[in-house]
Amino acid sequence: MAKDYYEILGVDRNASDEDIKRAFRKLAIKYHPDKNQGDKAAEEKFKEINEAYQVLSDPQKRAQYDQFGTADFNGQSGFGGFEGFGGFEGFGGFSDIFGDIFGSMFSGGRKQKSGPQRGADIEYTLDLSFEEAAFGVKKEIDIYRHETCETCHGTGARPGTSPKTCDKCHGTGQVQTRRNTPFGSFVSVTTCDKCHGEGTIIESPCPSCGGRGKVRKKKVVTINIPAGVDTGNTIPLRGEGEPGSKGGPSGDLYIHLRVRPHKIFRRQGFDITCEVSISFVRAALGGEIKVPTLEGDTNYTISEGTQPGTIIKLKGKGIPRLRGGDRGDLYAEIKVEIPRKLNDKQRQLLNQLAAEMGESKVEGKKSFMDKFKDAFGG
Ligand SMILES: [Zn+2]
Ligand SMILES: [Zn+2]
Repeated sequence: MAKDYYEILGVDRNASDEDIKRAFRKLAIKYHPDKNQGDKAAEEKFKEINEAYQVLSDPQKRAQYDQFGTADFNGQSGFGGFEGFGGFEGFGGFSDIFGDIFGSMFSGGRKQKSGPQRGADIEYTLDLSFEEAAFGVKKEIDIYRHETCETCHGTGARPGTSPKTCDKCHGTGQVQTRRNTPFGSFVSVTTCDKCHGEGTIIESPCPSCGGRGKVRKKKVVTINIPAGVDTGNTIPLRGEGEPGSKGGPSGDLYIHLRVRPHKIFRRQGFDITCEVSISFVRAALGGEIKVPTLEGDTNYTISEGTQPGTIIKLKGKGIPRLRGGDRGDLYAEIKVEIPRKLNDKQRQLLNQLAAEMGESKVEGKKSFMDKFKDAFGG
């Protein structure tokens, strides 16, 4: 089962963002490697605290963690962006976290023109079988993304050449126009039409990407689907979307899950339901019957005189709950089958039974019209 990030930070499930931030800072300072030189346990603890904070401080990751018990669905690279954090040198990551805390207070309103841009998100619908959703599965999917062109390394210029500074805007990407009117002179700033705001012009475009700097490429992404997912669940893979431009971060990949119906079972939350047909003789006599489960048939003993519509409950034979621990239950409804045809021996035996139970003997087969007359007194 996944780690309890709330326990690691010593906060409860309803903790506010402020509470989480405060708890993290306190613990991060206490277990900081600078204060605990050579202490392996403290180092581990420090990593754990950071991992917990990365998830709980991000509203989206936290929601996923609350729902699925994990925020790590990426089968390949583990915690996206979290690697390279180990070891004491790479502590850029640590100041980044503090940078985030303090930076976010002052960052409002600062916007660069034509600067780094985040890549677009990609949406993907993944169909799962009932069993795959119930027990979890590792899936590989093909995603088409616009990757940086390897021929020109994203510049868009033919190898050996480089983009030239735009002569119209002198690389600023903007042009100023002064207009003199009777009311005074006005300066308007517009995007340079020659370079489209890029500030550079590609005179000889790269043959691989036609000057776009990006090429469409297939990437195989491995996803760990946790046990217990259902139609409507969405798994986010951070940074697996379209790459950003000019050093901007990649977008995210959203996997929307769709679970195919099962031949036998229906799902209600984490419980499953099905029907079990037994003969009327078995229903009357009781005894052992077979009940289907997700793991194959299981034997179940019914009592004498089991009625149609009786519900059998098999505890813990449902779907595993998403956040680990137990499973839902299986509810099987008894259907009683009445034979449509009897052979002579069976009819004879049933007539004997009928007599024993005080019912009148049935005289051979009746035609439809006879039955119609009986029923309506015709
Ligand atoms: Zn290229
Ligand atoms: Zn220009």
